[in-house]
Amino acid sequence: MTPIHLSDTEIQLYSLDKDNCGLNITEHIAQCESCATRAKNYTLLFSAVEDMPKPVIDFDITAMILAALPEHKKSPTLSDRLVYFVSFAGMSLLGILAWFLQKDLSRIFDSVTSMIMYVLLIPIVGILMWECYDLYEKYKKQMNVLN
Ligand SMILES: [Zn+2]
Repeated sequence: MTPIHLSDTEIQLYSLDKDNCGLNITEHIAQCESCATRAKNYTLLFSAVEDMPKPVIDFDITAMILAALPEHKKSPTLSDRLVYFVSFAGMSLLGILAWFLQKDLSRIFDSVTSMIMYVLLIPIVGILMWECYDLYEKYKKQMNVLN
């Protein structure tokens, strides 16, 4: 037996999980009457806490929290609308061009060498990866704000 008694943390660990608390703790409690008494008291305390009735709340806490949150009904600004319009016009133009160049598109891509495709592909993949990373960082920041 070690001459120093166990700490509260070790005794609580023993009281909560006797099988996995460690051999030195188990042996000390088996030989030390003071620590065994403290462990027994903790065991009684933990069982009393577990037996306590769960608190009953007589109001809808979800509705109260949702009512307290600020609303985010943001109407699109002029610059947002301009971005939407330019994006839509650009996609429409690409669609129209693809429609008119259906037969020529295959010849255009056949003439492009694989080296040029890699030169185009690497920045595109890099930008996509950067955007995904940025989106993930924003998500983590928002989750930290919520927690
Ligand atoms: Zn002891």
